[in-house]
Formats: sequence, C-alpha cells, structure tokens
Amino acid sequence: MSVRLLLETGNIKNYRTWYLRGGGDYDCTTYHTECGMYFEEAPLSNAGCEHLDCAMSVAEYNANDSRLGVYLLPFIVIFIVMFFPDEAGLYIGGMYLLFWIYAVFSNYMDNRKTRELKEFKDHGTINGVKAKQI
Ligand SMILES: [Zn+2]
Repeated sequence: MSVRLLLETGNIKNYRTWYLRGGGDYDCTTYHTECGMYFEEAPLSNAGCEHLDCAMSVAEYNANDSRLGVYLLPFIVIFIVMFFPDEAGLYIGGMYLLFWIYAVFSNYMDNRKTRELKEFKDHGTINGVKAKQI
C-alpha cells in the first residue's frame, strides 16, 4: 500500500512510502520503507506500507536528493560551455540544462508533497481542504 488521502472534493492523492538505497549505476540497489519493509526489485509505486511518517520521510528524502541537482547542475552547464565553447560543448551543455529543468520540476513536486503531508499531519487538511486517509 501507499499512503492514500481522500480529499473532501473527491480527489485522491497518492504518496509513495518506499525509496531507493544503494549507489552508482552498477551497485546493487534495494528498496526500503522507513519502518523496515524491504524489496529487492523495484516495487509498484503503490506498494509499501501505509504510514504517514514513512511517506513524509520519502518526500523529504526525494526533495533533498533533487535539491542537490538544482544547485549543482548550473555549475556543470557553465563549466562545459566555458571550457568547450564549440558545437559539442553547447550540445552537451544543453543536455545538462534539460536535466536541470527536470531537477527544478521534480524538486518543486517533492517539496509540494512534503508540504501537503505535513499539513495533513498537523491539521488534517491538504491546501486547506479537509482530507482523510483511506
Ligand atoms: Zn511504514
């Protein structure tokens, strides 16, 4: 299960409760929840537990992860374009610029999830709309 919140408006919001652990492309990656569930293969996004705290720590973990890209990637783009001011440099710099745009977008979404879960935990609402866990 994942954390599912039903809003008074009838909308359902889904929050993942598992995250990746491991590093590097060739390292063995496993999947965990904060409360100790463990998967060797990537679980479905609605697998995992239904603990609000687990969903919150995943949202915070992802927000921290994507924040690194938001701050780091612009320097990589500048470095590439400065030191390789030819066509290939611009092409690769442009690719990293797209990665940066993606990082900004996913950081925005992760921060929004963190904020929504915190609001639900503190006040039982999401963006001011009453919600309940289903
Ligand atoms: Zn849990």
